[in-house]
Amino acid sequence: MWQRFCQQQQQQRLPHALLLSGVAGLGKQQFAKAIVANVLCMSLKNDNSPCGQCHSCQLLSAGNHPDHIEIMPEEVGKQIKIDQIRGLKEKQQLTTSVASWKSIIISPADAMNVSANNSLLKLLEEPQQNTLLILVSDKPERLPITIRSRCQSYPFSSPPTEQALAWLATQNVNNQNDELEKILQLASGAPIKVLEMLDANINEQYQQIERDFDAILSGQANPIALATSWKNFELSEVLQYLHYLIKKRLIELMKTEQKSTKNRHYLKISDCIMSTIKLTSSLNNVNKTLLTEDFIVSVMQITHNSEYKVR
Ligand SMILES: [Zn+2]
Repeated sequence: MWQRFCQQQQQQRLPHALLLSGVAGLGKQQFAKAIVANVLCMSLKNDNSPCGQCHSCQLLSAGNHPDHIEIMPEEVGKQIKIDQIRGLKEKQQLTTSVASWKSIIISPADAMNVSANNSLLKLLEEPQQNTLLILVSDKPERLPITIRSRCQSYPFSSPPTEQALAWLATQNVNNQNDELEKILQLASGAPIKVLEMLDANINEQYQQIERDFDAILSGQANPIALATSWKNFELSEVLQYLHYLIKKRLIELMKTEQKSTKNRHYLKISDCIMSTIKLTSSLNNVNKTLLTEDFIVSVMQITHNSEYKVR
């Protein structure tokens, strides 16, 4: 991906807008920042990396470059508002003051609300000379197609497991008892996400979620209380983990028994998890507590009235 960018830059074929997409934890932010450092540097080195010495490089590393803007929600998890995008237009019309390019990072781009999207679309329709707009998104499907189609796509994909584990080893994280491989799977193969998960003591969280899930299966859970307690977790991560659990249990079950009621239940629950995952990723501003309650109730209905002994 980096080579592709360098090639475009050297051939002076850089587009006006890029969309860096892919699951969280693949380094899209770092990549966007590296691009910015490159286009703003006034004397790139022979290997196309920024010199780190010029006035422009120094301003950027001081976090105070007049030709660079970063737009993000004012609070984590909130929307990017139209005023934040409107300001860009005025800024874009100014000439550059230090570098020969202007750069803008919008991240996460899918956090823009409808009016912010419309305002950005106008900018994309009238691209300015030597201005590079970089959109970063874990959920590009939430961006309007009119915006996506005006950006050149840089899709990030997860590296092969071996490569990810090897990189994690360079960060002093080692694969003990295949634990790391499990976490990597839960992180959709994204190694930087694994580091974050380990920092957040994810194993304890998952043990709690597994206990809760067993309570749901055996009909002992209180959906309202549980949905409230799950507010402490990222819902999409809980669902990914449940999906992983149910898959694992299905595989174990298929080793021991032929068709059983439990087998059918697990398949139904798996469908239920998948459709809830779809809902969380397709809807902005979804009421997550309500969605969680609905999910728990649906699973309890599947296992209701059956002799349910967990595992
Ligand atoms: Zn420089």
